[in-house]
Amino acid sequence: MALRDEVTALLRDLLRLDTVNPPGNETQAAELLRAYLEEAGVACELHARVPERANLVARLPGRGEGPSLLLLSHTDTVVADPAEWTVDPWSGELRDGCVWGRGALDMKGHVAAAAVAIATLAREGFEPAGDLVFAATADEEVGQDYGLSWLCREHPEAVRTDYCVNEGGGDWVLVGGRPVYLCSTAEKMSAPFRLRVHGRSGHASMPGIADNALVRAARLVDRLAGFSSPPRLTPETEAFFAALGDVPEPAVLERSVAELSPDVRAMVEPMLGTAVSPTMIAASQRVNVIPGLCEVVCDCRLLPGDTPADVEPALRARLGEDGYDLEWVEAVGGTRSPLGTPLWDAVESFVAAEEPAARVVPVVSPGFTDSHFLREAFGTVAYGFFPMRTMDPELAARLVHSADERIAVEDLELGTRFLLHVARTIGAGA
Ligand SMILES: [Zn+2]
Repeated sequence: MALRDEVTALLRDLLRLDTVNPPGNETQAAELLRAYLEEAGVACELHARVPERANLVARLPGRGEGPSLLLLSHTDTVVADPAEWTVDPWSGELRDGCVWGRGALDMKGHVAAAAVAIATLAREGFEPAGDLVFAATADEEVGQDYGLSWLCREHPEAVRTDYCVNEGGGDWVLVGGRPVYLCSTAEKMSAPFRLRVHGRSGHASMPGIADNALVRAARLVDRLAGFSSPPRLTPETEAFFAALGDVPEPAVLERSVAELSPDVRAMVEPMLGTAVSPTMIAASQRVNVIPGLCEVVCDCRLLPGDTPADVEPALRARLGEDGYDLEWVEAVGGTRSPLGTPLWDAVESFVAAEEPAARVVPVVSPGFTDSHFLREAFGTVAYGFFPMRTMDPELAARLVHSADERIAVEDLELGTRFLLHVARTIGAGA
C-alpha cells in the first residue's frame, strides 16, 4: 500500500476514537496502534497508571552502535462541540484533500505518521544503530501525570533516549520573502503569579468610606497589560536571525524587531522576553460589599534559563511598590536543547532535499510540550518538528483546539516521509 494511503487510513481510524481529555480513554488508541504495529513486526508495550489511560511504547531494537531516537506523540485531544463543526468531529471524514476530526493536527496526524514510519522500517527489516522508539502517550492536554511525566519517572528505561522528535514545530512560513521551516528547540517557562491587592471593605452604598481593592487591582492590571521586558537575544533567536541574514546588535534589537513585518514580529516577539497576561480575577462575592481584597492571577512566560526571581524586579518596577503582595504560583518547563546536533542536521537535510530554497530556523515555543520532561529527566535532545506546507500555517494555527480541525493529506505524507528520513539518518549511526 502506498505510504499516503496507509497513513491516511490509520489516521481516520484514530480519529474515530473519542480520546477527549478529560477523561482521555487513551487505551483505545494504544490498543489500535498496538494491533497495527504488531502486524508489522514491531514489539509493543502498554504502560498505564490506570487501565483506561495507557501509554504505548514500541521499539525497533538497535545494534547498540549508535544513538537512540524517540518518535514522540500524544493520543489525547481537547474537547469538541459537534454543533460548531461542519462534519462529525469523530468521523475521520476525508473531504477536499483533508482528513477531518478532532486531533487531526494536534496531534493524531503526527501519531499516525510516526506509527507508519516505524512500521515501514520494520517491514523493510531495518536495523538501526541505536533503538528506534515510538511512544504514543496519554494526557498531554491536561497534564495530570498519566502520560510522559509518569513514564519518565516510573518506566524511565522505556523512554530514555538520546534524540526525540515531538510536536511543536514544522510550520512553513515566509520570512522576508524566504521560505522557512520553524523547528522548536526550546520552550518558555510557564510561571503564573498571583497578586493579592489590599484595600478596605465597606458598604457599597457609601463608596467614600471604603478603599475598593477591585478598583486598585484594575490599575495594576492596566500596568501589567503594558508590560514588556527589554528584548534579549538567546542562542535560538541568534540562530534565527543568522539564518535569515544578520543578527541585530543588542543596542538596536528593539528597533530591528519593530521593523519586521507584523506576522513575523508576532512570531519573534515572544522569543525575546517575558510575556505577561492577566487572566483571572476575584473580588467581592456580594454586589453590595466593596471588596477589601482582590486577587488577580497572571499567566507569565519566561525565556528558557530565566527564573521568577530574575524577572520579579522588573514586574515590581512596573507595578509600583505598595498595596499588593506578589506570589509565584508555580514554575514549569523552560528547557532547551542545543542546536547543531545530528538531529538538527537530519531536519536540515530533509528540508534541503524537499525544498532547496527553504531554510530551517530554531524557535522557542511560547507554550509547554512534553519535550520538557525528556530534557529534564535524561538530557534528551528534543525538537518539535512536523513539516507542513500545504495547509496555510495561519489556518492551521486557527484550527488547533477549534472547530473543523483537519490536516491536508499532502502534509500527512510529507510528515511521514520526514520521520522516515530522521529515523534512517539517526539510525545510520552517524
Ligand atoms: Zn498536542
